[in-house]
Amino acid sequence: MNTESNYIQVVKRIDAACERCGRNKDSVKLIAVSKTKPDEEILAVYHQGQRLFGENKVQEMCGKSERLPEDIKWHLIGHLQQNKVKRAVKTAAMIHSVDSAALAQTISKEAEKLGIVIPVLAEVNIAEEESKFGISGENVEEFLREISTMPGILIKGLMTVAPYVDDPEENRPVFRRLKEICVDINNKRINNIYLSELSMGMTNDFEVAIEEGATFVRVGTAIFGERNYAH
Ligand SMILES: *Cc1c(COP(=O)(O)O)cnc(C)c1O
Repeated sequence: MNTESNYIQVVKRIDAACERCGRNKDSVKLIAVSKTKPDEEILAVYHQGQRLFGENKVQEMCGKSERLPEDIKWHLIGHLQQNKVKRAVKTAAMIHSVDSAALAQTISKEAEKLGIVIPVLAEVNIAEEESKFGISGENVEEFLREISTMPGILIKGLMTVAPYVDDPEENRPVFRRLKEICVDINNKRINNIYLSELSMGMTNDFEVAIEEGATFVRVGTAIFGERNYAH
């Protein structure tokens, strides 16, 4: 197996999942998660037509963005620290991991300095015991109300990192819950808040996430193979 054929398989699986649940395949966008992977492998996928890539470290994202084609859209999917916001805002097309009002405030300020409005997702921690980051489901509305008036950010939707499980069906309730929170909030018609994006599903469970309404799936291993953190 190589990266190109892995990529083609993932695209086919996304299309098939859309077909099964009666969704338009354009309603699901694949983010190829390229963290730890070298430029050549990213370019291989780029040449297959992929333009959205996901990174979880600001420095790695910025380095790759300088070296790789300009029409790549870099999605920052990992936890973001305050002192890295400035560089993140310059490079990222979207930030998926906004999980505190203080972080949102800093992002907004840095975006304003650049004269831009940056699209963001609020990271929600549905399966609370498993992941360290994200706001709890019950606080999402209050959180969104608080950050919705910040001029440098545009809230596009919600993101979650589901636990690693052997059977992807185990994560179906997590995805369903995120979608429910999204629908509930949209139904309230709060000023400046309309959630159109749901970033959920990874290598192990992206098909289930699509069935439950994902609009972004973040897939790394199924495209690029296992990550090697040793070098
Ligand atoms: C690494 C990562 C992914 C991709 O995970 P795979 O299991 O390799 O597909 C998705 N989302 C986040 C937030 C990640 O850090």
